[in-house]
Amino acid sequence: MSVDFASPRKVLELEHKKGYADSAVIGGLDKFLNKWAVQAMEAITEPQSLNHFHRLHLANSNYASFSKEQRQKWVNGVLGFLAEAEHLADKRTKAKHLPIAHRPPSRTKARETATGPSLNSPITTIKGISQNLATKFGKLGVSTVRDLLYFFPNRHLDYSQRKSISELSEGKEETIIANVWQAREVRLGGRRSTEAIVGDETGNVRVVWFNNPYLVRQLATNKRVVLSGRVVMFNGRPVFESPEWELAEDRELVHTGRLVPLYPLTQGLKPRQVRKLMKGVVDQWAYKMEDCLPPELRERCNLLELPEAIFQAHFPEDEEVKDRARVRLAFDELFLLQLGVLSRKRQWQEGQPGSPFTAKTPVLKAFLKSLPFELTAAQQKVRKEILADLGKPIPMSRLLQGEVGSGKTVVATAALLMAAANGYQGAFMAPTEILAEQHFTNICHLLSRAGQEEVTEDYLRSYSGLLPRPVTVALLFGDIKEARKQKLQQLILEGEIDIAIGTHALIQKGVDFARLGLAVVDEQHRFGVTQRSSLRQKGFSPHVLVMTATPIPRTLALTLYGDLDLSVIDELPPGRQVIKTKWLKPQQRESAYAFIHRQVAAGRQAFIICPLVEESEAIQARAATSEYERLSREVFSELKLGLLHGRMSAVKKDDVMRRFRSGELNILVSTPVVEVGIDVSNATAMLIESADRFGLSQLHQFRGRVGRGKEQSYCMLLSENPSEISRARLDIIEKVQDGFELAEEDLRLRGPGEFFGTRQSGLPDLRMAKLSDVALLELARSEAIRLFEKDKTLEKPEHALLAKELARVWTTEAGEWS
Ligand code: ADP
Ligand code: MG
Repeated sequence: MSVDFASPRKVLELEHKKGYADSAVIGGLDKFLNKWAVQAMEAITEPQSLNHFHRLHLANSNYASFSKEQRQKWVNGVLGFLAEAEHLADKRTKAKHLPIAHRPPSRTKARETATGPSLNSPITTIKGISQNLATKFGKLGVSTVRDLLYFFPNRHLDYSQRKSISELSEGKEETIIANVWQAREVRLGGRRSTEAIVGDETGNVRVVWFNNPYLVRQLATNKRVVLSGRVVMFNGRPVFESPEWELAEDRELVHTGRLVPLYPLTQGLKPRQVRKLMKGVVDQWAYKMEDCLPPELRERCNLLELPEAIFQAHFPEDEEVKDRARVRLAFDELFLLQLGVLSRKRQWQEGQPGSPFTAKTPVLKAFLKSLPFELTAAQQKVRKEILADLGKPIPMSRLLQGEVGSGKTVVATAALLMAAANGYQGAFMAPTEILAEQHFTNICHLLSRAGQEEVTEDYLRSYSGLLPRPVTVALLFGDIKEARKQKLQQLILEGEIDIAIGTHALIQKGVDFARLGLAVVDEQHRFGVTQRSSLRQKGFSPHVLVMTATPIPRTLALTLYGDLDLSVIDELPPGRQVIKTKWLKPQQRESAYAFIHRQVAAGRQAFIICPLVEESEAIQARAATSEYERLSREVFSELKLGLLHGRMSAVKKDDVMRRFRSGELNILVSTPVVEVGIDVSNATAMLIESADRFGLSQLHQFRGRVGRGKEQSYCMLLSENPSEISRARLDIIEKVQDGFELAEEDLRLRGPGEFFGTRQSGLPDLRMAKLSDVALLELARSEAIRLFEKDKTLEKPEHALLAKELARVWTTEAGEWS
């Protein structure tokens, strides 16, 4: 989004011309600027501009009350800001569109000579980095000096333990310091290579470098070299094979004899070259990094100073300080992340007052009494948490986690009823139309037990007896007839509808509510800040309840949803069946098919989940299609099969799902990417192909699609050739039914990236932090909370650097997520 700098500039120039009489715009300058500032604030992304912007207080200016001199000064100040911000924004968009190689040199030059190269200068300003080399670094995401400092090695080789030649042992990575006796070019395996004999006071050893004849020239006799690398035995004697080497001069060692960094490489970047270059850069620049952490915080948490941490992360003195460097850098990432999510939470909650609901206890009691069951203890607890939030004048933002079938919908319905009882409307959003339809049916069913059904149209129901007036529920989505849609929209706008159920389109376009008080979002991982701010732009700050059936370990939840409060239903209603899960050997495939045949013969239905082929949906769709064809032809030729994959249109998907749900199809063959969050109580069998490719949580999610009815349900896992770790995981899923336990296990075994599948995770780039760093994450969060308690807006001078860093990280890297 670009900011309109021109309009305020013109207005202020006019104001200057008219002699500062506050006559440039009708309604006064303050009103005009306030309005502009509110829009501009969202769109100004340059941290520098943003700081300046905030200092001017344009959103609550007081021009009208100024004297003429004050006005003149102030107008000049604002004009200065506009010019600077416009220039920066301009530069930024240009920089974005120009590949490094084509950036006009004159411009770069001009900047350099004015201020000297800075951390934000392109890496070509570093001696020895050509345009060509810069392009290669560009492929690794490195374009500025700062990027280079944060371009950390994947790992280090420990060449720090020096041995003498007589102590060398076979198969180990060893380091020696020795004299070159002789070096010559030889042919090894038909290739020109280098061979050398080197020695120390304990003996001699042969060294070979395959395919590298050029070394000969550098290894002059009597030079002292440091060699680090693997030792093999050849004809009963130790030989160094292609070791890292460097001359032992007065310089610090870079490639040998220490903890040696291994950098990520791309085509055309050579390890030695990168290492040498990095040493130079780190030596020269690391100590210019300003530490954004306040010293007292750093000391309290026992963290290294930033320059030291950067230095040691690249070229550590020993393992211990290397770990401390990682901890410091990981802390920064997590801390900035937490500051970001927490400040967004505050913006949401303080930006606009919410609508406090009063507890309508009799209504709630009547509703709960009408249910054919008692709420579980976990449901009770969560209901209380939610109702407490709803009673506050700040808008709720809460994440409700609970397994499929744990009874989230009932709790959400109680909250929606509270909104209605308070004269507000509620919106209930699902990710697909078919799920929206399902929720509509379920919620109507719940309400029908508590009240009398009055209007009973397909898309509109109303229930009397609960409130002094009937409670009206509507189902709205794209597929319904235009006339009906318009009627429903009209009713929503007039406030006639209390609970509107639909897909996200419900709040995103077209639909206007009269008094939206609560938005419930089901199964949505990405209902983030953007959506909430779009609501706010419509003039609402409803309470927001996000529900998910994916059990997310606490660390991950705090990171992904750090701006939400967390509620968990960690208990299933009594009497839920255990889905019998079995991991089958490849030769048991036929018996799995036979089992499905028997289930179908008994009137049940089955899911078959195709293997996760690749991240590409196109390839997955093709694989699923051919599996569907094979099964239809060869295995289940007398049955009716349906196919579901991500490449199908929404209409087609919904159609297949409906046919499956109505019982018209016996078996549904589906790719894993497709949303199968659907309630088909007659489905009792699930077969998952290549089960070892999935995370435990994912398998558990799949498994939750069966066992929704009364009949015993089964989940069969096939795996052609599982690794050791996969076997362990398949054992776990056979035994464990608790989603949270499985999620923790997943995080432990596979790490966060794979937890949701990288594509979905939306995680910012955490280079140093691991989500298994639970303690560090908790520390970062508590420090972030503590900091905001002291300095809500990071205005204090000792937090200026931090504010700047926060703006930088959240505008460039992570702006899109949450
Ligand atoms: P979720 O939305 O968490 O998947 P639902 O709210 O749809 O779960 O509940 C699943 C089923 O369990 C529904 O049929 C619901 O009526 C029923 N249910 C909910 N809470 C309870 C409870 N405490 N005891 C028994 N059944 C319950
Ligand atoms: Mg549900």
